[in-house]
Amino acid sequence: MQIKNYIRDIQDFPKEGILFKDITPLLNEPNAREKCLEILLNSLNGQRIDKVIGAESRGFFFGMLLADRLNAGFVPVRKANKLPFKTISASYNLEYGTDSLEIHIDAIKKGDKVLIHDDVLATGGTAKALADLVTKLGGEIVQFNFLIELSFLNGRSKINNHPIFTAITY
Ligand code: AMP
Repeated sequence: MQIKNYIRDIQDFPKEGILFKDITPLLNEPNAREKCLEILLNSLNGQRIDKVIGAESRGFFFGMLLADRLNAGFVPVRKANKLPFKTISASYNLEYGTDSLEIHIDAIKKGDKVLIHDDVLATGGTAKALADLVTKLGGEIVQFNFLIELSFLNGRSKINNHPIFTAITY
C-alpha cells in the first residue's frame, strides 16, 4: 500500500498558485492511516517522548495518535487568542505580514523530551515558531516529524539544528 495514493492534490487552494496537499483521504482509510502512523513511530527508534506538540489544526490528527501510542502527553499549539489559559506566543512570517502561535505556559516542563508534529513542512515558518515555543518553556526537541515535506521550499533549513523525519517527500 502506497501512502502517497491517499494524499490528494488540490490545485489553487486556498488561493491561486498553491497546490494543496489534502490528507483527508488518508484520515478516512484506517489501513493507510495505521501504516503512516507506524512509519512515524518507527522513525523514533524507541526514544522516550514526554510530550507531542501538534500544530493547529491538521497537526492535531496524527499528533494525538502519536501521543496515544507513545504514552505521552499531547499539547495543542493554536493560533492567537484560541487557548483559554495563560500562554506564550511566537510569531512567524506569512506571504504578507506575520501571524503568531500560542502554547499554554504549563504544557511543557523544563527537560521534557518533545516530539513536534505537523502535517506539512512547507517554508518552515510554522515549524520554527513551534520550536521557539518549546525551547522557551525549556523542552528538549527530540525530533520534528511531518507527514509531507515540500522539499523545493527548503523549510528544513529553518529547523535543521534538530532531527527531522518526513513520511513523504515531494
Ligand atoms: P510553512 O509554515 O510554510 O512550513 O507551512 C506549514 C503549514 O501550512 C502547515 O501547518 C500546513 O498545514 C500548511 N501548509 C502549507 N503549505 C501547504 C500545502 N501545500 N498543502 C497543505 N498544507 C500546507
